Amino acid sequence: MSIVVQGVTKLYGEQKALDNVSFEVNTGEIVGFIGPNGAGKSTMMKIITGFIPAASGKIKINDIEVGTDNIEIKKQIGYLPENNPLYPEMYVREYLGFVASIYNTGQSKKSLIDNIIELTGLVPEQKKKIGSLSKGYRQRVGLAQALIHNPGVLILDEATTGLDPNQIVEIRNLIKEAGKEKTVMLSTHIMQEVEAICNRVIILDKGIIVANEEKNNIYSVLKRPKQVIRVEFDKMIDKSLFTEIINLSTILQINSYIWLIEAEGDVDIRPSIFNFAVSNKLTVLSLQKQESNLEEVFRHLTNL
Ligand code: ADP
Ligand code: MG
Repeated sequence: MSIVVQGVTKLYGEQKALDNVSFEVNTGEIVGFIGPNGAGKSTMMKIITGFIPAASGKIKINDIEVGTDNIEIKKQIGYLPENNPLYPEMYVREYLGFVASIYNTGQSKKSLIDNIIELTGLVPEQKKKIGSLSKGYRQRVGLAQALIHNPGVLILDEATTGLDPNQIVEIRNLIKEAGKEKTVMLSTHIMQEVEAICNRVIILDKGIIVANEEKNNIYSVLKRPKQVIRVEFDKMIDKSLFTEIINLSTILQINSYIWLIEAEGDVDIRPSIFNFAVSNKLTVLSLQKQESNLEEVFRHLTNL
């Protein structure tokens, strides 16, 4: 099961929500689709699932073109829309039965419902009304409706937004488990989510893809100085003093006592900073090397 998106553009009136977007999600991958609010993530997902049309471009789900056979496409895709719209007056089993009857999978409705309730951990809540469930359980119902027909492709739009930390971990585990046999694309604006579940990251900003990398390679897009050191002294000093230390490209004052020192090259500049402090009768209260993280890559690419 794979997703191939070729040159998709979407306009809302004058606004280009997606601008010539192309990417592929290969069989078995869990891809994180990240970007700030308004980047176009939900729009892309609605187009992939055939809910809204693109202005131009082409999408194939496992070699079937979206828009040609939407019934077949819907059988192959499980979709959890943003904000997980459910029917609060319906009972969990009743709702899942309703969803199961849309798909005609050949399996008995009861066994489909029983299996999915088991898989998504809904057993204790299965007899309740959807409206009476906690947000975490409602999200499980959302995942259950997306998974009930055993689709090869899962499209999850902000599946963990609004959940508490425990619920987030539970839902992530469910996605990881389901993702073992499926091709998954999930949108999020939370970086840790990508770190926790995904193999690959696609970053979207203002309708344009700004990065598409294996999770472990994503840091290479950061063209940052090799070293960023945060140092705190016990006294206020003048910036000009720093000229004593060679090879500094940038010095940034964070507050009266804290400085961010960026430097190129492989030679660790911490000993020079330490010696600099000693020769100027300063006490170093802290000295830290700052590591890159995905959050930083994201901010760098999307100019936040
Ligand atoms: P994201 O999911 O990344 O937050 P969306 O795909 O929801 O982004 O939205 C992308 C852009 O398109 C936003 O500027 C949003 O305001 C706009 N947009 C989304 N849906 C509509 C719509 N139905 N009508 C007009 N503009 C829309
Ligand atoms: Mg969205």
